[in-house]
Amino acid sequence: MFGQNVFNQTVMRERLPKAVFKTLKKTIDEGLPLDPSIADVVATAMKEWAVERGATHFTHWFQPMTGITAEKHDSFLSPSEGGALMEFSGKELVKGEPDASSFPSGGLRATFEARGYTAWDCTSPAFLREEAGVVTLCIPTAFCSYTGEVLDKKTPLLRSMEALSTQALRVLRLFGNTTATRVISTVGAEQEYFLVDKAFYDKRPDLMMAGRTLFGAMSSKGQELEDHYFGTIKERVLAYMKEVNEELWKLGVTAKTQHNEVAPGQFEIAPIFENTNIATDHNQMVMETLKKVATRHGLVCLLHEKPFAGVNGSGKHNNWSMSSNDGQNLLEPGHTPHDNAQFLTFLMATIKAVDTYAGLLRATCASAGNDHRLGANEAPPAIMSIFLGDQLSDILDQIVAGDEKSSTKAGEMKIGVSTLPALPMDATDRNRTSPFAFTGNKFELRMLGSSFSISGPNIVINTIIADVLQEFADRLEKATDCDAELEKLLQETAKKHQRVVFNGNNYSDEWVQEAKKRGLLNIPNTPEAQKQLITKEAVAVFAKHKVFSEKEIHARYEIVIEQYVKTLNIEALTMIDMANHSIIPAAMEYATTVASSINAVTAVSAKLNVSAQKELLEELCDKLAAVSAETKNLEKELEATLAIADLDEQAAAFRAKVFTKMDDLRANADALEKIIAAKYWPLPTYREMLFQL
Ligand code: ADP
Ligand code: MG
Repeated sequence: MFGQNVFNQTVMRERLPKAVFKTLKKTIDEGLPLDPSIADVVATAMKEWAVERGATHFTHWFQPMTGITAEKHDSFLSPSEGGALMEFSGKELVKGEPDASSFPSGGLRATFEARGYTAWDCTSPAFLREEAGVVTLCIPTAFCSYTGEVLDKKTPLLRSMEALSTQALRVLRLFGNTTATRVISTVGAEQEYFLVDKAFYDKRPDLMMAGRTLFGAMSSKGQELEDHYFGTIKERVLAYMKEVNEELWKLGVTAKTQHNEVAPGQFEIAPIFENTNIATDHNQMVMETLKKVATRHGLVCLLHEKPFAGVNGSGKHNNWSMSSNDGQNLLEPGHTPHDNAQFLTFLMATIKAVDTYAGLLRATCASAGNDHRLGANEAPPAIMSIFLGDQLSDILDQIVAGDEKSSTKAGEMKIGVSTLPALPMDATDRNRTSPFAFTGNKFELRMLGSSFSISGPNIVINTIIADVLQEFADRLEKATDCDAELEKLLQETAKKHQRVVFNGNNYSDEWVQEAKKRGLLNIPNTPEAQKQLITKEAVAVFAKHKVFSEKEIHARYEIVIEQYVKTLNIEALTMIDMANHSIIPAAMEYATTVASSINAVTAVSAKLNVSAQKELLEELCDKLAAVSAETKNLEKELEATLAIADLDEQAAAFRAKVFTKMDDLRANADALEKIIAAKYWPLPTYREMLFQL
């Protein structure tokens, strides 16, 4: 079953003329430019393979800035002498021209230049999708404007991988490596999600419109018993997971682990790591498949970062490393002094990059949804720091101390001469609170939101590490004594950037204080965080490595701020709608019932005790009045905020004002929910949604 719907290298080898396959493979493996003359042959082979499997349509599959994927289907049909042929040309494979006017562009593409281009990314294999009996050939593509500016999440990722490869190779050469011709970054993305019964979902306008509950009193039980994490998977969920796995395996996605997560109704799926570009495409497929298969099981998959208040939200762990095409993981501690020096160089480059561009990393992990998680003691704090573990931290200390203090337990620390102690995988992490943890042979960025494309954070990781590697290579290439220079370089770097290393509890208040002392950034929310995308330093590093031009990064900034504003606007409108159309009327109805009860009972005898009804009615009316008042407050605040012309100011007001009013309204409505009889409450409860799967 595995890979049966993928036009992978095995299929290509079988179906393409030898010379064509060789040329294409060179492009895929070594990043050489695509030879346009082979496009027709590849297109024909691809079409034949697809048609044999029932395909009638093809689509360029791309990743606009919406964060989800987009496609426009064309049939292979081509008229021929009164009949029709199934045709697919090289031109159609290589380039598409979707009307791009309705995709976010941040002002890059004026609507009168609505044309956008999609271009075949031959490094990510084409695949077949079967839906409702329709089989479609999906071709991963990059998406750009008429003038060549990027409008998607793939192009800059590929550019960043290119930059990383170039600079990492220079460093490898300095260590005498002559065999590697390419370095790729690798990613394994762990994906968290919630499942709810579709019958409940359909009765929750907030889940439908905003992907999260905007109201809802906590159930008597949440996650406090810790009985869900790694618990036995319910049969209904297991049946769902089985189908998800099968769908993904057919698509060549290596779905590997699955388990119950911490919150009730929460789960995780993780694939085996691979090339970051492919991992990014595959993570999109994972998210799409999770959603699609859920509906077949009468379920809905929620990818929102915080669907339910009071229990953990969902994130994504981005396990990242670099490997060379001669088979080395560059973040794998080695066995020889030489290997160790190389490992320490790449490790130190990562540390320096993360410390120097902490703000950029923070920005790429920011969204309206993720604002509910970062810093909320269920996900890493908003402060960027690195967990290294005791052994590596000790080595870092020794490097900082230099020769004088070099004979502690790790042995003599002379780079290139001595050996590092072996670093058993288990001795490193299980610190779950760190945003960026070294876990033996890779780093795990844990700040991503569950609904994110993993592209953004990886663009940044690749670019900033490429930048530091470039600086290292520039300096070492010039040195007459490379070993001595390296030692100096590592020591300087360790001294300067050790401040970003923190092995303790990232959830503690002490860390917030300590981080402040160390001068580390602590950016609390999305509108603030996104500004880090367009600092002078950020613009410069993206431009230097040709990942984003200044214009492109500013456009991106505008898009993410717009998305933030739109998200909060939808949430606020949905709350107002739910309050006015279901919560307030329900409370009134129940109040009438209670009032009638008082009248009916006292009509029988004035002596009967109706104090309970009266007390309830009073409480009910007070809370109802409060909900009504808070709804009006929210409406007013929203109106005022929408009138703000400047986008930055508007985003800040959404955060400072609208968001606060939403909280106030919710608090009152949740209190109301707690005293209303179940049959009058118009919405499925937390107990039903979280525990009735
Ligand atoms: P956790 O303990 O964080 O739950 P998992 O075993 O679930 O860890 O996930 C670890 C992820 O890291 C997997 O997707 C795995 O394939 C990935 N991984 C392992 N080695 C590398 C590497 N060299 N580069 C990138 N990812 C890697
Ligand atoms: Mg993890």
